[in-house]
Amino acid sequence: MMLKKCVKCGSYLLADGHCGEKTRTPHPPKFSSEDRFGKYRRMAKATYK
Ligand SMILES: [Zn+2]
Repeated sequence: MMLKKCVKCGSYLLADGHCGEKTRTPHPPKFSSEDRFGKYRRMAKATYK
């Protein structure tokens, strides 16, 4: 199962759509690695709290 990302609000989720937009898989990453890791950290925090 792959996490998808809402391009509008930046949330990671499994749904095909969010905020009225299609979500897409964050692979391959096209962002700066710094930004990507920041988002992964935030996601991990939200997941493991
Ligand atoms: Zn969204």
